[in-house]
Amino acid sequence: MAFTETILHWYAENGRDLPWRRTRDPYAVWLSEIILQQTRVAQGWSYWERFMAHFPTVEALASAPEDEVLRLWQGLGYYSRARNLHAAARQIVALGGFPGTLEGIRALKGVGDYTAAAIGSIAFGLPAAVVDGNVYRVLARYFGLATPVGTTAAKKEFTELAQRLLPADEPAAFNQGMMDFGATCCTPVNPACMTCPLQPSCQAFATGRVELLPVKKTSAKPVERHLTYVYVRVDGATAIRRRGPGDIWQGLWEPWLTEEVPDGARQVVRDFKHQLTHRTLLTDFYLWEPPVRPPLPEGYVWIEEAELDRYAKPRLVELLLEKL
Ligand code: SF4
Repeated sequence: MAFTETILHWYAENGRDLPWRRTRDPYAVWLSEIILQQTRVAQGWSYWERFMAHFPTVEALASAPEDEVLRLWQGLGYYSRARNLHAAARQIVALGGFPGTLEGIRALKGVGDYTAAAIGSIAFGLPAAVVDGNVYRVLARYFGLATPVGTTAAKKEFTELAQRLLPADEPAAFNQGMMDFGATCCTPVNPACMTCPLQPSCQAFATGRVELLPVKKTSAKPVERHLTYVYVRVDGATAIRRRGPGDIWQGLWEPWLTEEVPDGARQVVRDFKHQLTHRTLLTDFYLWEPPVRPPLPEGYVWIEEAELDRYAKPRLVELLLEKL
């Protein structure tokens, strides 16, 4: 597979030489993965060396008092990681050795899917693909995948894809290659597309979507949206339309929604605030009473004002009509 080979080749030439990469001792690998969970390599490096010097084996770590472990951890933050590390060391000793299966590794305190795959592949050669932010980004761009990251669908899709690409005989090099490649070449901002070995077959590059991928899940934080409604009144008639699919209020009726307020329209309310689940609507509402019926944009119909009650309207429109 061209993708896999390119990553392996790239890693062989550009992979970072890190001390825990020179060993397959599961203890040393596990320690590095826990330290790097929320810490950058540059900072984590000295801590890893300090821990290895102080507790050269999992037994040494397990039998140390917690205070000592926490003291050594000082400066790394997220002390729950240190406590989990200590607890997991005792788990491992109780098991009689480091577990050699993915399920066994995953059952250690403080180890999630990602860390289990990393340790499993590096220390035991298990064919388990790691999927972190770097991997999401590289795959989304290279294969042109727009599934929003952070969704269950994306987790499934990207994990399956990474798993398919993973070479069974070199899982560690592939996993580490993906992470290094994402961290140094296919970076979040200003990726090095011009020198990237994947560029000739990269979908995002070919279609000019490098900046648009990966797609982020839209935040649940309400966003603001501005609307301008004009209530047209001519001889007891008004213009409304039924909202189409693909947006809020599908099938409900509304007055003339426009961006250009006609001359002579009178403002009834300004920035009227209405809260929906995922957005805040701020509406300007105008009343316009031209002498004759103006031409209407497509989709609008004239109805008698007296009939307005018979049309289902969004709550916002009802509130606006009350202001007339
Ligand atoms: S060409 Fe650019 S976007 Fe595509 S994989 Fe390479 S660095 Fe990433």
